Amino acid sequence: MTAVDLLRSGRNDFVVLERYEAFGGTTWRDVANETTKLQTEKGTYVPEYLDPEVHAQEDQKTWPSRDSILDMCVACAEKHGLEDKAKFNTSLEKVEVKGDLLAGGHIELSLTTEDSSETLKCSAMISCPGVFYNPIDVKWPGREEFGGYITHGSYDSINYDKLKDASVCIVGHGGFTIENVRTCVERKSKKIYVVCRHRHLAGPKMVSWMVSGAAIPIPGPFVVEAFQMMYDLLGVDVWSHPVVNANADRSSAVLTQTTTFGVTDIYFLACYYKVCEVINGEIDKLSKGKVHLKDGQELECNVIMKCLGSHGATDFDDIIGFKFYQGWWVNGEALMPVMAPAKGVQAKNFGGFSLAPGYAGQIITNRYFIDYPDKFVGVRDWLPKQTRDDHYECNYIYKGAHVLATMVILQTQFPDLAAELGEADKLKAYKHIKAHPLEKHLDECLKEWKMYIKMMKDHGQIPADAEEVEYPYTKENIMQLDQRCQEAMKAEWEKMMSKKAKAGK
Ligand SMILES: Cc1cc2nc3c(=O)[nH]c(=O)nc-3n(C[C@H](O)[C@H](O)[C@H](O)COP(=O)(O)OP(=O)(O)OC[C@H]3O[C@@H](n4cnc5c(N)ncnc54)[C@H](O)[C@@H]3O)c2cc1C
Repeated sequence: MTAVDLLRSGRNDFVVLERYEAFGGTTWRDVANETTKLQTEKGTYVPEYLDPEVHAQEDQKTWPSRDSILDMCVACAEKHGLEDKAKFNTSLEKVEVKGDLLAGGHIELSLTTEDSSETLKCSAMISCPGVFYNPIDVKWPGREEFGGYITHGSYDSINYDKLKDASVCIVGHGGFTIENVRTCVERKSKKIYVVCRHRHLAGPKMVSWMVSGAAIPIPGPFVVEAFQMMYDLLGVDVWSHPVVNANADRSSAVLTQTTTFGVTDIYFLACYYKVCEVINGEIDKLSKGKVHLKDGQELECNVIMKCLGSHGATDFDDIIGFKFYQGWWVNGEALMPVMAPAKGVQAKNFGGFSLAPGYAGQIITNRYFIDYPDKFVGVRDWLPKQTRDDHYECNYIYKGAHVLATMVILQTQFPDLAAELGEADKLKAYKHIKAHPLEKHLDECLKEWKMYIKMMKDHGQIPADAEEVEYPYTKENIMQLDQRCQEAMKAEWEKMMSKKAKAGK
């Protein structure tokens, strides 16, 4: 996205450094499984997101597979001639700032390939190192005795043959758990236990659709209400979920969790039919064919799938010479931004579960200060600061709230930047709705819902005569929720304006 945006704004004088042999990133080349699909909708997940004329490919599925996304990245790079700008199989090993970058200084990069090394000089460096590197691992006592199959649920390491007829214990409750509940249903597992310390909220597909399609971010209470329609099937009260912090009259709600919302419907179906059971707890030890939890519960299973999240790149702080951030600029250097927001949610209003629109704002801002670095100097000291913690290996990853606080300051100070960001914001709802009109999208979700019920029956995971649970979202209830949401936002706006008028502003 960054490279495409630089070209679009007339900058041609850059190179792309990449350890892999092609575009797609660690995310899609290494972390994703062959069964991974985009969880958010394709409409806003396009490398040319910032080009108003370019939309998601029509022949791509709504939730494209890993391979389809890789093809999209490579095709986009080819279209823009980015292959010629890329140095693949090249590792950035060291970054040194020589002199004052705003007064004739430069950045010196030490690079290595498999059989050579070189240095490269540049005047600015936009780092997009990613936040997923290695899977977090836990080794429980008794694993030799267990006798079953233990695997990570990511990094394409699953032997799918082992899932058939198996009783699978998935550990953790993030995005890969959501994906692997689907995979286990598809691969005919008999039973799925999800053992987790925190039952994070998962995002129903129509809620993801709703927030991405909203021109103005949707207030938390309406998002909770939309979640509740699905969670009612499981008897879970979302309002009293630890992720939700609402005021007494529920007119405001902040949702906070350490993973993004895994977007899914099949997880809810599998839980509804008790093919999947979520258990709050922690594994203490394993014994033959059993998982023992710390609270004394025992689960019989023959597969354990670890979905515990990922570590960031533990070498990147040292490579870049990280001492502190001001905003997301390393050591306060206007020409050295880093794109590395942590996974997770902390929001009062929701404009989407897809990351691309958020990246877009940072990309525009990075370019703005590459064009006008002197402007950065004027605001640098006002930006939120984050200093290196030597006990932590990935200081380069910052919280979403850090981005938000930085953006608020920058937009207040630079109206021209704010205007460009405002225009880019409009692209989200426009592109999303163009790719996924309500009726078409709802129809697709409904068909998929029925398809999975049939699949579970065909696989013998649920009885052939099990009742068909209804999809909780309809055109009517979605439109009604949207209308109430619009009215509430309008009332809030009018209240604010009248308060301002009374204060004489
Ligand atoms: C399985 C999975 C599914 C996801 N699904 C969604 C989704 O549905 N919707 C959504 O919005 N987001 C999703 N995400 C989030 C996803 O990570 C981002 O959307 C995006 O792909 C991140 O891209 P990136 O380029 O920032 O990072 P990465 O993909 O991690 O790429 C970083 C690149 O930097 C290179 N690099 C790092 N250090 C060096 C170095 N020293 N020298 C040379 N090269 C280096 C790496 O080789 C890597 O290729 C998903 C993530 C995962 C893991």
